[in-house]
Amino acid sequence: GEPDLGPTLRPKRKFPQPPPLEHHGPARVVALCNQKGGVGKTTTAINLGAALADYGRKVLLIDFDPQAALTDGLGFRGRDFEESSIYSLLMDGGDAADLVVQTPIPGMDLLPSHINLSAAELQLVTEVAREQALERAIKPLLPDYDVALIDCQPSLGMLTINALTAANSVIIPVECEYFALRGVALLLATIEKVQRRINPDLVIDGVVATRYDGRTVHGKEILERLIEGFGEQLFYSVIGRTVKFPETTAGGLPITTIAPSSPGAKAYRQLAREVLLRWASASTQ
Ligand code: ADP
Ligand code: MG
Repeated sequence: GEPDLGPTLRPKRKFPQPPPLEHHGPARVVALCNQKGGVGKTTTAINLGAALADYGRKVLLIDFDPQAALTDGLGFRGRDFEESSIYSLLMDGGDAADLVVQTPIPGMDLLPSHINLSAAELQLVTEVAREQALERAIKPLLPDYDVALIDCQPSLGMLTINALTAANSVIIPVECEYFALRGVALLLATIEKVQRRINPDLVIDGVVATRYDGRTVHGKEILERLIEGFGEQLFYSVIGRTVKFPETTAGGLPITTIAPSSPGAKAYRQLAREVLLRWASASTQ
């Protein structure tokens, strides 16, 4: 089941079953960020979101990528939301709750995206308080959820700055491959800049290693390097490489639903428990 991290890597850790919530909201807003594409942002949004919903958390997924892979990955068609996506909300205002759709996962809703969101990058530049557009738009929704996960586009442009401005924290998915760390310094510098200028309370929840191949020496070397590079910031939960992810994305459902006892589903449930523990210890400090 769980990846064998080997004697030279970190010990395995278990994370407790999260206690049920007595009441819901307001949501912690979490941006899933990495300007590199293909590192598992969208896969993490769907599967971490579904695992958190399974633990009784009310989850709002926010598709903030014009490619709308999160919207499509949940069985919707991005093109159906031409006039009812996050883009309309940013540009025209209106009632955010009208745009939220239910996903097949109980307790998990979606604010969908549409390709026309790509125009926002330029349109926002001339807006007043342009960095706060997303924060303003989603604010009315937050009392109804425990967690809002923003699936960012693979760039460090105005949309990502908006996500970092709206967020309480950031989770950085990093793919376990040779150039994993390339670009991460620039991402961290961008996060620092947002912290300094706009959102001083923004924190990094952690870095999650994805697409880990524990069968190869190479895979282990890369994970070792991530552990050295990020220390305790790297989540102990590691997401292994499995064809199940591409398969389930095409099926429009999370792996935690399609194959609940698969290693991938277990890994995302463990990540959910680890993330909840980090949030709980952050809020009691
Ligand atoms: P991003 O949103 O960062 O661009 P995605 O989550 O869309 O990345 O993942 C990119 C591709 O890799 C998708 O086809 C996805 O199904 C696949 N993928 C994601 N995580 C894994 C994994 N752990 N093992 C194998 N394939 C994965
Ligand atoms: Mg994506």
